[in-house]
Amino acid sequence: MRALQDLASAVEPLTARLPWGGPPPAPTGDLRVRVARLERPVPDVAVLTLVPDRSGDRLPAWQPGHHVDVVLAGGVVRQYSLNGDPRDHARYRIAVRRIPGGTGSGLVHGLTEGATLGLRGPRNAFPFARAERYLFVAGGIGVTPILPMVQAAHRARTPFRLVYTGRSRASMPFLEELPEGADAAVRPDDEYGPPDPARLLEGLTAGTAVYVCGPAPLIEAVRAHAPPGTPVFSERFAPAPITAGAPFEVRLGREGPVVPVAADESALEAVRRVRPRTAYSCRQGFCGTCRVGLLEGEPEHRDRPTGGSPRGAEFALCVSRAGEGERIVIDV
Ligand SMILES: Cc1cc2nc3c(=O)[nH]c(=O)nc-3n(C[C@H](O)[C@H](O)[C@H](O)COP(=O)(O)OP(=O)(O)OC[C@H]3O[C@@H](n4cnc5c(N)ncnc54)[C@H](O)[C@@H]3O)c2cc1C
Repeated sequence: MRALQDLASAVEPLTARLPWGGPPPAPTGDLRVRVARLERPVPDVAVLTLVPDRSGDRLPAWQPGHHVDVVLAGGVVRQYSLNGDPRDHARYRIAVRRIPGGTGSGLVHGLTEGATLGLRGPRNAFPFARAERYLFVAGGIGVTPILPMVQAAHRARTPFRLVYTGRSRASMPFLEELPEGADAAVRPDDEYGPPDPARLLEGLTAGTAVYVCGPAPLIEAVRAHAPPGTPVFSERFAPAPITAGAPFEVRLGREGPVVPVAADESALEAVRRVRPRTAYSCRQGFCGTCRVGLLEGEPEHRDRPTGGSPRGAEFALCVSRAGEGERIVIDV
């Protein structure tokens, strides 16, 4: 009983911040997995080895660049890149950096070995294509999709260069898993200063495909400095800042309140100010968690279209917008 009380008081500060309040409902997802191993190789990063909860089940195949939707307590869904060995169909591995105040990463860091989770996917928004040679650029936890790419290039004997940046060596996971003999330039800021885009792209030759994942400024610097014609593939863990938006309004139902959306914010951010429980996940338009029915108005789309729906017109709160001064009405 005492142990249960201790557990309840440990969990309480986290559940108090969660949208549903009270004890967390059991997670659901297409695939149930169990946390077989939980390691903390560097502070603030939890590395989880996940196995099917039912013995004998096999995990779906994946390629470097794939991520899964992890369904956490209370139905909170967050994406995490698969960073283990794609040839191993018995287990997945993900690594999660704790974001201060973050709901999903806080829940992951509160897990223990033996916990069960729901998974959806794998999904690939960062396809790894064949190239003559590669430049891989990883920033901090952005190493997660890059690591299996580096290992695949190494196995295939495709020439590559890796630049792995981070705040300090002590904060950078998986340093010991970089392939032996690979020309890995590990560039912690505390030894070299913030990354210099010109040096990141040093010696880039024709036929090189660039794969980059990390903080937005790193991705933008690589894109801005890559010679014209260089194929650059990137993945963002957080949405890009909105720079070319216009202000518009969203009405929550035909009789509901009207919420102004500023030029530099998403409808999701604006709606969550009045409806903090509004569910979201990828915040980049691909997972569908925040799609709602559209009752009136003509949305414009930013980045990615919301796609056709058998249920009629939809509006993805995280990326869909309307024209300047216009009002759309959503079915919430
Ligand atoms: C395709 C894809 C793959 C991903 N793979 C990984 C992975 O392998 N490992 C991993 O740790 N994360 C990964 N992420 C990010 C992850 O899905 C979550 O967004 C992240 O863990 C934060 O979620 P949260 O619920 O803790 O924060 P939230 O509660 O959603 O946000 C809390 C606050 O933190 C801010 N915030 C959210 N994300 C970030 C961020 N990345 N950096 C700085 N501030 C942020 C929010 O704007 C908000 O103010 C991936 C995301 C995508 C889209």
